[in-house]
Amino acid sequence: MTDKTTVLIHHPYQPPEGFAAPQAGVFKASTVIFPNVAALRSRQWTDKSSYTYGLHGTPTTYALEERLATLEGGLHCVLAPSGLAALALVDLALLKSGDEVLLPDNVYGPNKALAEGELVGWGVTHQYYDPVSVDDLAARMSSRTKLVWLEAPGSVTMEFPDLIGQMRLCHRQNVTCALDTTWAAGLAFDAFDLDGKGLAVDVAAHAITKYPSGGGDVLMGSVVTRDPALHRKIQLCHMRLGINIGANDAEAVLRSLPSLALRYGHQDHTARALARWCAAQPQFVQVLHPALPGAPGHAHWQQVCGAADARGQGAAAGIFSVVVDARYPSAQVDAFCDALQFFKLGYSWGGPESLVVPYDLASMRRGWPEHIRHGTVVRLVAGLEAEADLQADLAQALARALPR
Ligand SMILES: *Cc1c(COP(=O)(O)O)cnc(C)c1O
Repeated sequence: MTDKTTVLIHHPYQPPEGFAAPQAGVFKASTVIFPNVAALRSRQWTDKSSYTYGLHGTPTTYALEERLATLEGGLHCVLAPSGLAALALVDLALLKSGDEVLLPDNVYGPNKALAEGELVGWGVTHQYYDPVSVDDLAARMSSRTKLVWLEAPGSVTMEFPDLIGQMRLCHRQNVTCALDTTWAAGLAFDAFDLDGKGLAVDVAAHAITKYPSGGGDVLMGSVVTRDPALHRKIQLCHMRLGINIGANDAEAVLRSLPSLALRYGHQDHTARALARWCAAQPQFVQVLHPALPGAPGHAHWQQVCGAADARGQGAAAGIFSVVVDARYPSAQVDAFCDALQFFKLGYSWGGPESLVVPYDLASMRRGWPEHIRHGTVVRLVAGLEAEADLQADLAQALARALPR
C-alpha cells in the first residue's frame, strides 16, 4: 500500500471541471504538471493556449491580463510587480545602447530617476521636453530617438498636454510612443482610440497599484499593446528578466476591477468639488486640476476626456494640486499638511483614504514652469470619505496653519 504521506501529495481525487463563480480562482504555481513528455516538449505559453511554468502564467494571471488589456482598449498585456517596474520593462525592452528616450519634464519622478540612474549606465541617453509644447518635443527628436514617454496629465503639476498633437508627431517621425495611463485608468480616455478615429498610442503602461487595486494594498503594473510584434518584444524581455506577480495580488485586483468605474467616478466627483472649494480660498493662488477652467491644459483635457462621462462633465481622476501663496513659508505649509486629519500624509493614490503630500517643485523641474504661480505645491488625493468631512478638514487645517 502506498504510504499516506505520498497519497497526500499524489491523491486520486480530482475536483470536477466546469466550476463557475463570479470570482476567478487563485492559482498558485511554480511547477505546472504536464500529462506526458510530448506535452512538455511542445509547451507553448506565448499565446496563452497552455501552461508551462508559473513564471509564464496561470489561469489567474491570464484572466487579469485579458481584463486589463480590455480596460485599456488594447489586445495584449504583461504584468509587472509595480507600476515603476512596468515603466522599466518598457525601457529595457525597447531601448538599446546608443538610443535616446524623451520624457516630459513633469513625468512621474521615478521615471526620471530610472533614466538618470540606470539607463545612462546602459548607454541610453535621455532628454526632458516641455510637456505643454509639441514644438519643443519635435525639436528634441533625432535619429537616435527610439522612445517617447507621454503622461496625461503630468504628475504633481497636472498639466494636460496636447496628447493628440504629441502622438501624431511620434507617428509621423516613426518613433514608438508609450503613455503612462495611470491617471486615466482606462476610463477617462481611450489610449488606443484618442480621437474617435483610431489614433492609438503604441504602449500603455499603467500603475495598477492606484485605481485598479483601489485598496492601497497591492503593488502592480501593466503594459498593454495592440501591435503583435511590439507585444512580442516586451513579452520576451519580460520572460528573460524573470518578472512575475503573485497570485494573491492578481486576485485582489480581479476583485477590485468590477468597482473600478464606480470608485473612479466617485473620487472624481469629490476631488472636483474640493478643487472648486480650494479655488475660492485666498491662501491658494492656483488650483491645478485639468477639469477646472483656466487650469494648465484644460482645453486639451476637454478634447480627449470631455465626453468620457455619463453626466457629460468629462472624466478625471480624483487628484489635484494647490499652490499655496508664496507669502507663507514652507514650514507653515508643512504645518497645514500635518494639521489635516482625514488627509493622511503618504504617496500613491486610488485607495480609500484621502492623501496629501507637499512638494518642492523647484527641485523637480528644469526651471519653474511659467504657467505655475509661485508658491508651495501641495497635492491632494480624494479617497472615499464623505466630501463634507474632507472639506471641513481642509477648512480647519487652513484656519489653524495658514490664517489669512
Ligand atoms: C504611482 C505611479 C507609478 C508607479 O507605480 P508604483 O506601483 O507605485 O511603482 C507610475 N506612474 C504614475 C503616473 C504613478 O502615479
